[in-house]
Amino acid sequence: MKNIVERFISYTRIDTTSADDATTCPSTPNQFVLARQLEEELKELNLKDVHVDEHAFVYATLPANSDRKCPVVGFLAHMDTSNMASGAGIKARIIKNYDGGDIELGNGIYTRVKEYPKIAELKGHDIIVTDGTTLLGGDDKAGIAIIMDAVQKLVSDPEARHGEIRICFTPDEEIGAGIHNIKMEDFPCDYAYTVDGGDIDEVTYENFNAATAVVNFIGNSIHPGDAKGKMINALQLAVDFHSMLPVFERPENTEGREGFNHIVSLQGECEKAQAVYIIRNHDADELERQKGEFTEIAEHMNRMYGREVVDCRVNDSYRNMKEAFTDRMYIVDVVSETLREMGIEPSYTPIRGGTDGAQLTYMGIPTPNLGTGGLFCHGNHEMVSINNMKKMSDIVFNLILNIEKRG
Ligand SMILES: [Zn+2]
Repeated sequence: MKNIVERFISYTRIDTTSADDATTCPSTPNQFVLARQLEEELKELNLKDVHVDEHAFVYATLPANSDRKCPVVGFLAHMDTSNMASGAGIKARIIKNYDGGDIELGNGIYTRVKEYPKIAELKGHDIIVTDGTTLLGGDDKAGIAIIMDAVQKLVSDPEARHGEIRICFTPDEEIGAGIHNIKMEDFPCDYAYTVDGGDIDEVTYENFNAATAVVNFIGNSIHPGDAKGKMINALQLAVDFHSMLPVFERPENTEGREGFNHIVSLQGECEKAQAVYIIRNHDADELERQKGEFTEIAEHMNRMYGREVVDCRVNDSYRNMKEAFTDRMYIVDVVSETLREMGIEPSYTPIRGGTDGAQLTYMGIPTPNLGTGGLFCHGNHEMVSINNMKKMSDIVFNLILNIEKRG
């Protein structure tokens, strides 16, 4: 039997960076390498129906050992790592009994308390850091290690009564291109939890409502020397359009439950240009208002020019999962109870993004997110606390027992 740290470090050795520009799922072949390793480990734990599908999803079942009628509950974590930082040649290093001060990662890179004040919370913990040249992959290999470890505890404790548990390790979460390939028939759960980043006291069941706007600007190009009264510069149209959107709704001016319009790309020339925006808000009505502003600005500009110079198309991307929980809050409550029993006060910070769980929720499996104890993900300063990872494994273990007790 492996311990949680050995498992985690072995996962970080496989470079599973996902790739935006790929047309296949998984986007990178190494995700299969990790999937095969996880398949072996799940078989070693004697789980049933263990298999890897053609998209590198890993599925497994821990059959119920309780006579009580219990819900079937799933746990998910993703195998890929963000392409915002290198995931190749990760050299994970353990710092025992961290002293709470600045950390020299290596290669002249320091994680300083001044810039990363949150590390002070880890004083006295054993932590795992990088050598400063790569990310760590705690997002979300810590989640995988936590689920594996909790399952190992369940199978090796004959006293532990539980309902049927379904496990799924998924590809391409970071590029938002994996989860829709999940085979629902291989993951038949009443509800599930993703274990994917954040503090261990966090239970997240609120995320953004999301839309994308693709705005095309139609110019009229002519030699600038002869341009008077004739030229319509598509780039100028784009600048005008952008400046009509509220300045206070740019991401850099928002936090908490405030939504934003974020211009993610702008390209073009005099003849034509295109801007792409992502539009986000926790509140569905507010998102509709923001979407409406895009359309209104386009109409306004078209009226002003007396012809179509702006073609604005807005499409919904994903929705806040919160409303799916209104009559099923027991899925969150049982986590809160478990945390409180362990002396941890739960926190319910809405995430300023989407999760695989949000998508799964709308595919029919309500799926809030639980923490991992990882910090500063997607960059070279990423770290995990071994103490928190172990505690999170206990949380998942106790959660599963509590679900059985509730029946
Ligand atoms: Zn993640």
